[in-house]
Amino acid sequence: MGSKRIRSRKKNGKQISMKSVLLLLKYVRKYTPGYLALELLLVIGNSAWDILVGMLYVKYLFDALEKGADYRRVLAVTFCMIGYRMVLTLYGKWMANVYRPKANLKLHERMQTKLYEKALQLDLASYDNTEFYNDFIWAIRESDTRAVKVLTDVCSLCSCVITLVGMGAVFAAIDWMAALVVLASSVLGFFVRTKANQIRYAKAKEMNPITRKLDYFTRVFYQNEYAKELRMGNMGALLQEDYEQTAEGKIACAKKYAPKLIGISLASELITSVLFNVGLLGYLMWRYLTDAGFTLGDFSVGISATWKLFMRVNQLIGFLAQFQEHSIYAEKFRTFVTQKPQILNGTEKAEAFESLELRHVSFTYPFPEKNPKQVLSDVSFTVRKGEKIAIVGYNGAGKTTLTKLLMRLYDVTDGAIFYNGTDIRNYDISSFRAHIGSVFQDYKIFAATIGENVMGGTYTDAQKEAVESALTAAGFSEKYQKLPQKADTELTREFDEKGINLSGGEGQKIAIARAFAKNSDILILDEPSSALDPIAEYELNKTIEAAAKDRTVIFISHRLSTTRMADRIYLFDGGKITEQGSHEELLAKKGFYADLYNSQFDKTQTA
Ligand code: ADP
Repeated sequence: MGSKRIRSRKKNGKQISMKSVLLLLKYVRKYTPGYLALELLLVIGNSAWDILVGMLYVKYLFDALEKGADYRRVLAVTFCMIGYRMVLTLYGKWMANVYRPKANLKLHERMQTKLYEKALQLDLASYDNTEFYNDFIWAIRESDTRAVKVLTDVCSLCSCVITLVGMGAVFAAIDWMAALVVLASSVLGFFVRTKANQIRYAKAKEMNPITRKLDYFTRVFYQNEYAKELRMGNMGALLQEDYEQTAEGKIACAKKYAPKLIGISLASELITSVLFNVGLLGYLMWRYLTDAGFTLGDFSVGISATWKLFMRVNQLIGFLAQFQEHSIYAEKFRTFVTQKPQILNGTEKAEAFESLELRHVSFTYPFPEKNPKQVLSDVSFTVRKGEKIAIVGYNGAGKTTLTKLLMRLYDVTDGAIFYNGTDIRNYDISSFRAHIGSVFQDYKIFAATIGENVMGGTYTDAQKEAVESALTAAGFSEKYQKLPQKADTELTREFDEKGINLSGGEGQKIAIARAFAKNSDILILDEPSSALDPIAEYELNKTIEAAAKDRTVIFISHRLSTTRMADRIYLFDGGKITEQGSHEELLAKKGFYADLYNSQFDKTQTA
């Protein structure tokens, strides 16, 4: 069910989805009101100029020359034309240098903010769907520049249509046959361009995953976080080799499409340039020479209009094809911004924690669809206020998945989880998550100050005490005291050269402090001590015991020495609970837990 809705809609690239293009324009209008109207005004002004000067004024001049008209009138008309051009040029310059750059920046910023907001609402499962994720990246990369391109092209399209209709009408009045030829070659040209566009789309689609892969290589080679591993192993050489193969794949892809693209662009040139342009000029010449009623003015209008029409028709065809491309991108953008989260918000407000019960919970990740595997099956247990629960088991047993379900980052496939006796799906998500503090195994430190990192958002001086006590509880105080800027110290050197880079263990302590500072009823700690040294681990265990005395703690641990303090231990194997009880009970059972414990204990002894 869920997967169906987040699966991206496939487009064959043939249709122009005006709905998606209009949605982009709607955002342009919403974020930069007036932009479209001002552009359209310029377009109308320019189109009127094209018709006035390109056709009527030229005809007027030639006819005046032929018939000997009053030169003062000719001069007055000419000055009017110059005045009009000056006003139009000034307006065009203002648009190009003042209004448009500002509006583009504003549009970019607002579109990006919208996309970030949407990204925050996305279900975690969306990230598991490769096809959706590809489109998502495409939407993020393209949407803002696309919106401006769509706007520019809509205006140019309007300009084309206005001039075409105007010129076409004048042209048809002079020679309807010629007007018909223009129309016929336009239609032919359109089909050729459409074909070209389909080929370009197929090429872009094939190139997209290759480009993403190449982006990954670039990231690996320039980002700090990979630098050490690359120097210490052979990954660098392997990745370089892989990069070369991928880059060659890109060249092969470009080669594959090159003949088709050359063929199609030649056909397009032949139709528009040779047939239409040269053919029409010949025809006009023939009319002037053979038809006495065909004046010099008509001939000159014919010539200039042929060129202008040729340009405009070409432009129009280009735009229509361009709109196909726009609509493909716009469709991806639409899929993304109209994406409804599957983790639906309930209405109930979660009160202070009393109990958490898992009843026959089973779970299968929605992706991969082709090879779904049940990760948790029929898991049931209850956690009461103040209890310390340890979850242990081999890698891949489903422990982290369980914590994700507890935080409602995914919804269970079967069974249910009850918080204070109510299904967690009935709660307002943020009110429910407010009761849970967590440290993820793959915790992240943000490029922000220590204060902001610990508070998990805005930090003010009034929160200094809370931040410092959380840091002390997490065992970071020694390092913290040495920092001159204390809570205002910038973490990472991403934006600030004076920022500090933390070691793995130190970073983990910040993540733990973040969970402590949240002051939540429940703490979920996924391998909280994995990056800590034995002393720090011992300290952390003591702090968890002290700082979380009144709190409920669910922690995942590989190291069974940390599980001694748990009230209850659940041993997971293959997504199922296979053993449960206190440390002593499980040791007495002499089962898998006891074996695991003894093997780890032996190792410690030998070490
Ligand atoms: P543990 O924490 O016990 O090491 P996990 O809960 O991380 O185990 O993983 C359990 C199983 O679920 C593994 O087989 C893993 O490959 C799979 N898995 C984890 N995350 C995802 C995901 N996002 N999509 C699909 N399968 C996943």
